Amino acid sequence: MYQLRLAARSASPIGRSRNRRPDIKDMKFYVRTYGCQMNVADSNEMGRHLKAKGLVETQDPEDASIYLVNTCTVRQHAEDRAFSEIGRLGRWKAKRPGRKVVVSGCAAERTKEYLEDRFPFIDLVVGAKSIENFNEIAGRLLDRRATDEDLDYAVPAVNEKVAAFVTSMRGCNYSCTYCIVPYVRGREIYHSIDQILAEVRDRVSEGAREITLLGQTVNSYRHGQHRFGDLLRAVAGIDGVERIRFISPHPYYMTDRVIETMATVPQVCESLHLPVQSGSNTMLKSMMRNYTREHYIALAGKMRQAVPDMTLSTDIIVGFPGETEEDFRQTLSLVEELQFDWGFVFKYSAREGTPAAELECLPQELIEERHQRCLELVDRIALKKRLDLVGTIQDVLIEELGVGRTRTNYKVHVRREAQARQGAASINGAQARAEREPARSASPIGRSLKRRAQPQEKAAASSNIIHGDQVRVRITNAQRATLEGEVYNGNLAFENFREEDCRAGTCPDRQ
Ligand code: SAM
Ligand code: SF4
Repeated sequence: MYQLRLAARSASPIGRSRNRRPDIKDMKFYVRTYGCQMNVADSNEMGRHLKAKGLVETQDPEDASIYLVNTCTVRQHAEDRAFSEIGRLGRWKAKRPGRKVVVSGCAAERTKEYLEDRFPFIDLVVGAKSIENFNEIAGRLLDRRATDEDLDYAVPAVNEKVAAFVTSMRGCNYSCTYCIVPYVRGREIYHSIDQILAEVRDRVSEGAREITLLGQTVNSYRHGQHRFGDLLRAVAGIDGVERIRFISPHPYYMTDRVIETMATVPQVCESLHLPVQSGSNTMLKSMMRNYTREHYIALAGKMRQAVPDMTLSTDIIVGFPGETEEDFRQTLSLVEELQFDWGFVFKYSAREGTPAAELECLPQELIEERHQRCLELVDRIALKKRLDLVGTIQDVLIEELGVGRTRTNYKVHVRREAQARQGAASINGAQARAEREPARSASPIGRSLKRRAQPQEKAAASSNIIHGDQVRVRITNAQRATLEGEVYNGNLAFENFREEDCRAGTCPDRQ
């Protein structure tokens, strides 16, 4: 199953002949990732293996001895960008003896032979199906003496990410007619709950506070008696996990049990990215998506009723073969009807080997035009939704200096001046309540019942905000995709009383 090509070493005369084999402890690696979160998770996993072997990650390719390009092949454009980057690595490699080029991921799986022919300087090709074996494969790429004997494997890889991805399943059993994923990632393989929980614990011990479970149809999870709802509950049971997200769920597996879990487990965030692809039943059938427009709309309604604060986002493909103007309008009308909080609109890209690639493509100009029209609509609604957030108070988990995310998955730039000012103002309970009234941080009842008081939460604290902190932020600007806000100096004690009151049924919101 390996897509392994160590032989390419010999194709690198510069690297071989002048080689002083560098000590692994001096070696740095650079990772460039294309594509989806699944690829980001794979890059992280490969990075952890390299770090466990003693290598250090660098953000500067010029500093690196290993250059890892993790590729995507879902659309032609992503593949082209990765290949053009790989094309430039021949010169990068020639600049310093001992440098190595590693290419991994979905495009590597699909085009291994082409890559080997076109870029003979590549040292190692690791297809998407072989990522789980990367540790073993990479061991062969590196100097065994230095890796196996000199280094302490017990040293954990340090990953300072507050929000971590954990892969719960690989591959896909679906056959959406446009999609290359099942071909390059294979059929579904589920990790056991124990394995997933062990990884969650590792990430938490490295500083993660938010866990995103990953899978191509993440909610189809099954292992023994366990289904996806059980997995969510099990992850929520781990100390230190404050937020849980998952991506990408498939509408077919959005069962009542999963919905109920989202509605009742406090750690599961109020945000759902649920790809719809098209609003036309004719297109959905031709794409083999296994649901109808009506089913999707009903599901969205059920979700929003169960989790009132929830943001709903989606993926849309425009210009699928055979899409008529009427089909396309059905997509626009679905977007209007469901008012997605944001969405990704993709131009259909024919992928060789998929059933849809056999169908006649629409003219490119027509695809471009529909893409533009759909984007405008999605963006218009998204902007309106964001502007509605101005003045609301949101829980923001800080991921890096001055930037964090709401539970509903909006990125927020927390103004530094406000951070510096924090602690200066002391707002009494009445003021805090008055300020909360307009807060459409939505459905105060639902939110306050579900939200847990966070030990690290800072409302009127005086220390600096660092990554991993959870702060309450008043949204001040929403014109751009990243919201802006300032730390809200509300009275945390008041909030806690309010939460207690709600549990006791005496919350003012209910009277
Ligand atoms: N598994 C997820 C699902 O079923 O919704 C999606 C995973 S796919 C890697 C991410 C998105 O890429 C899809 O939701 C789809 O909108 C888009 N996509 C996949 N194949 C495509 C193609 N051939 N052309 C354009 N967009 C495509
Ligand atoms: Fe591709 Fe469909 Fe599988 Fe998603 S469910 S990865 S779109 S085949």
